Amino acid sequence: MNVPTTYIKGVGEERATDLSLLGIHTVGDLLYYFPSRYEDRRVQGIEEAQHDERITLEGTIHSEAVTQFYGRKKSRTSFKVFIEPFLVTATLFNRPYAKNQIKIGNRIKLTGKWDKHRMQVTVSEYTLVKDEGSKEKADQAKEDIKPIYSLTGSISTTFMQKIIWQGLKQFGEQIPEILPQKLIQEYKLVSRRAAIQALHFPTDFETGKWSRRRIVYEEFFLFQLKMQALKRIRRENQKGVVQKIDQERISSFLSSLPFALTSAQARVLEEIMRDLQKPYAMNRLLQGDVGSGKTVIAAAGLFATYTAGYQGALMVPTEILAEQHYETLQQILSELGVHIALLTGSTKASERKAILAGIQMGTIHVLVGTHALIQETVSFNKVGLVIIDEQHRFGVEQRRKLKNKGEAPDVLYMTATPIPRTLAITAYGDLDVSTIDELPAGRKPIETYWATEKMFDRVIEFIKKELLQGRQAYFICPLIEESEKLDLQNAMELHATLVGLLPQYRIGLMHGKLSAQEKEEVMRDFAENRVQVLVSTTVVEVGVNVPNATLMVIQDAERFGLSQLHQLRGRVGRGGHQSYCILMADPKTEAGKERMKIMQETNDGFEIAKRDLELRGPGDFFGKKQSGLPEFKVADMVHDYRALEVARNDASVLIEQESFWLEPEYQPLREYLIKQGVMESTKLD
Ligand code: ADP
Ligand code: MG
Repeated sequence: MNVPTTYIKGVGEERATDLSLLGIHTVGDLLYYFPSRYEDRRVQGIEEAQHDERITLEGTIHSEAVTQFYGRKKSRTSFKVFIEPFLVTATLFNRPYAKNQIKIGNRIKLTGKWDKHRMQVTVSEYTLVKDEGSKEKADQAKEDIKPIYSLTGSISTTFMQKIIWQGLKQFGEQIPEILPQKLIQEYKLVSRRAAIQALHFPTDFETGKWSRRRIVYEEFFLFQLKMQALKRIRRENQKGVVQKIDQERISSFLSSLPFALTSAQARVLEEIMRDLQKPYAMNRLLQGDVGSGKTVIAAAGLFATYTAGYQGALMVPTEILAEQHYETLQQILSELGVHIALLTGSTKASERKAILAGIQMGTIHVLVGTHALIQETVSFNKVGLVIIDEQHRFGVEQRRKLKNKGEAPDVLYMTATPIPRTLAITAYGDLDVSTIDELPAGRKPIETYWATEKMFDRVIEFIKKELLQGRQAYFICPLIEESEKLDLQNAMELHATLVGLLPQYRIGLMHGKLSAQEKEEVMRDFAENRVQVLVSTTVVEVGVNVPNATLMVIQDAERFGLSQLHQLRGRVGRGGHQSYCILMADPKTEAGKERMKIMQETNDGFEIAKRDLELRGPGDFFGKKQSGLPEFKVADMVHDYRALEVARNDASVLIEQESFWLEPEYQPLREYLIKQGVMESTKLD
């Protein structure tokens, strides 16, 4: 199975090169290159045939074929076919040679587009039907379902079928069963070989369905097995410390808060506390919608580490966010004896020196900051918990550097783009996932409106009213520079327009061409209400809290994805006042309209992520390169999520079983893990 495709009879060097363009290098790759879809070629009755749809009909040739030529090399060939009790016209374009095969009285099978009104089929393919019982007749039965492969270059579907058939003949015996017998029996899965065969050469739709089910499970199971193995191996190799946290002090900290935790917050905090006390390093993702209260969970975690005698670190992507978190932590933790310091790029040299010393000696218990935290000069006395907020804003290397500031510290990643749990555990692979799926009570949902460009004046009137009451507003536009190709309103132009329309207010401008420092300044002016309206491209820092801002206007909203719109909307609705989001959009596409509708319908980040996934598919949703998202050949993470969940459980149970590492039955799976680079020998050391 691991040999090159040239081992298959009929595949030469040239074809092998073309196959490799499709990612097919080995015989195994070829056999796992499944059709992207199937066409239904079962013969239909005319009554069921839908206008303009592809259909397959069978009947008796009723007239000679007549061919008309027109233009250069163009022709139309027509003849009548009798399909009890109808007389149908069959038309072929540019295939004059077909004429010779059309003999009155012969049976014929036609596939093509159906014109219900003219009783006419535009034929794309036809076959002459042989006598009942003949060999050809039996072959034709197989063609009721036609597999369609996505192909390029010189490779055609016919060629694919030929070499896959040949490949199965030569190597079919060598396709090993890889799934444990127990699971095969439990789920009544068809064998690997039968499934592969049936997906390439389906005999009927029912078999196809069972075969697909088998491969879907296999793909998910193998992927999850790899993830669970990675997790277990890391756990064995990377002994973390058991943090002896002080439950009592944590409880009294929680009761000192001005609010009670939501039950979702309490649950995830419990998950984190449990991890801190375990003898291996935590590697956990905390996901929760904007405003779901992740910061207080981070604070509780940092406090817990402190009670166990360890230091904590909180890294965030921007200075202003670092400052905000620093202030929040000061407010709730400093009176409990926790010493907190802030370290960013603009910390003064003298202060920096003192902080670095405090960190090294352990007199500073919690360090909050930007990527300044990962500089070499920062060396902790004894760091127990590392938290990374808005984790997607940091590269893998940056996250690793922070982690390496301690000896296997517990690590918590936080993200405000929540996705359904099953997807999270897949997309984030070997992380454990904690989810806050509930907002604190009493939040006023943000009211969302969809307005067209024509309504701009009314939108301005509305904004004036809010500004008059002392509120602030964001205006978001998608691009900064004038682009000839894209008809986008540019931020500078909008800024100028608003300066003209709202002369009594200060209008700020934020865009990607500003330096980091300039951005911080603009943001600070807005946060401190020296600027009332902020015009910005999407560089607006996610996570910044300006509770007095109640208006979010998004220009050309149809250009944004759903999750992005939801993130932007989450910038408002953070204070006690009613907040509004106005989507300015004249969507040209159905998908664009759909997005506007969904935004008006729901404020729930999970629901939005789910709808976004359905509209875009997981590849687009996560962004292919950064996510490291597995590419499944047959399985679909969105639609087959139930199988994904089942496979994950099965894989996790199996990995924890000592017999998995010993029994011959699991040898193929262990070999798979070695091939995947998860481990080096089939024994767990
Ligand atoms: P995010 O998850 O987006 O980081 P924050 O942690 O900034 O959200 O929390 C948003 C706001 O909700 C903060 O002002 C915080 O004090 C408040 N908050 C957090 N938890 C609760 C709760 N259980 N009840 C009421 N308010 C809460
Ligand atoms: Mg936050």
